[in-house]
Amino acid sequence: MPLVPMRQILDEAAKGGYGVGAFNVNNMEQIQAIMQAANDTNSPVIIQASRGALKYSKMIYLKKLMEAAVEEFPHIPVAMHLDHGNSLDTCKQAIALGFTSVMMDGSLSEDGKTPNTYEQNVDITRQVVEYAHPLGVTVEGELGCLGGIEDGHGAGLSADEVDAHLTDPEQAEDFVAKTGLDALAVAIGTSHGAYKSGRKDPETGEMLPPKLAMERIHEIHKRMPNCHMVMHGSSSVPKELVDIINQYGGNMPDTFGIPIEQIQDGIKHGVRKVNVDTDSRLAITGAIRKVFVEKPEKFDPRDYLKPAREAAYQVYVDRMKAFGQAGHAGDYEAITLEDAKAYYK
Ligand SMILES: [Zn+2]
Repeated sequence: MPLVPMRQILDEAAKGGYGVGAFNVNNMEQIQAIMQAANDTNSPVIIQASRGALKYSKMIYLKKLMEAAVEEFPHIPVAMHLDHGNSLDTCKQAIALGFTSVMMDGSLSEDGKTPNTYEQNVDITRQVVEYAHPLGVTVEGELGCLGGIEDGHGAGLSADEVDAHLTDPEQAEDFVAKTGLDALAVAIGTSHGAYKSGRKDPETGEMLPPKLAMERIHEIHKRMPNCHMVMHGSSSVPKELVDIINQYGGNMPDTFGIPIEQIQDGIKHGVRKVNVDTDSRLAITGAIRKVFVEKPEKFDPRDYLKPAREAAYQVYVDRMKAFGQAGHAGDYEAITLEDAKAYYK
């Protein structure tokens, strides 16, 4: 099965009332772990690469690894998605490489840091839709700004600034109508990376979990029941994974991620794509640290990359089950980009 347009995976998820994990990759081990997890749980899946990942893998390696992934597991619907594209050119490059979906993050300007005006966001997102849809390629846009930084991309907003840049439901309706996008990334208080909160208990000084504006998702879903929403920065940052890192010589301060229950509430209200990156990074780092500490005589990369791949696999399996995509890989005949071209006409 060739890579499928992400639009189909999201449409089917909406029909089935579940969410689909979109997992970031940089290397072979992550791709293999995701595909094994998708196979073992019978899940459709979205694999995504940021601009940083494309640079790291020199693009062509990632492309060939994705070809290998769909060749090994032809029965699993897989979409290949560009995460946080910053310009029409970057999106064109990804499409030329074979990506079946792109994100144009017009919430920020091309530097990936400075917030754009609403009009600029509409304009650039619509340009990407006009380029991508005739090629059958899915487009995700973003309204509002997220906190945190992902691969050097992000406004790096503080907790207070995040509150000022949440997605406005009324504006979301206008944004979707004017751009014609397929999926809308919403800013509801999640952040990229492992440190999502920035909130401290004023009395004890202990970290508090991030405050999420779930009511905005509920409101957008009420206004646009057919709009596929995307939650970015949705790693759960499980304490047990951070503990393993710290137990074996790491130094990560206390932190909170996004509780699975809140993601599941979002899925009940129109969230179809859930972006998870940090959790797999934590699992990989913890597994490698453990080998280094327990078996310091080892020097063959396979001795630590194999446990790393297995630890990431477990995260993917857990998320696929929690988001509800497990069991749905065989629900439908996958379409091609050619079919999607006709759909957009
Ligand atoms: Zn993101």
